[in-house]
Amino acid sequence: MKLKLKKPKLLQVMTTCSWCDHKIGNDGPIYSIGCKKRPEANISRYEGKVMPVKMSTIGKTKWAIVPPPEAAARRDGNDFFFTLCSENYGDQFKEILDLEKDIGKLIFSAEHLC
Ligand SMILES: [Zn+2]
Repeated sequence: MKLKLKKPKLLQVMTTCSWCDHKIGNDGPIYSIGCKKRPEANISRYEGKVMPVKMSTIGKTKWAIVPPPEAAARRDGNDFFFTLCSENYGDQFKEILDLEKDIGKLIFSAEHLC
């Protein structure tokens, strides 16, 4: 099955929960999870934009935000972010990310970025 993928806008990704796909409005705080890419992965073309991240454990593609290189977040060692509507969902999402990491080359590899 080929997944039709429409690239969302940066603002849209920033205000949409990566876990439950709900819109995060002004009525709630936005939680984020910072991720580190593999050293060999080149994500420079996504800087200041959104990046598709294929997650095989849930069979979905989630959109991450890649801050520009000069952003404080990048200097702190986080290469891309997911936004979430609650801390609880954040924890669940983190577990999935850990699973993906265990599987190996998926989330932090360069291959899935094409
Ligand atoms: Zn949510």
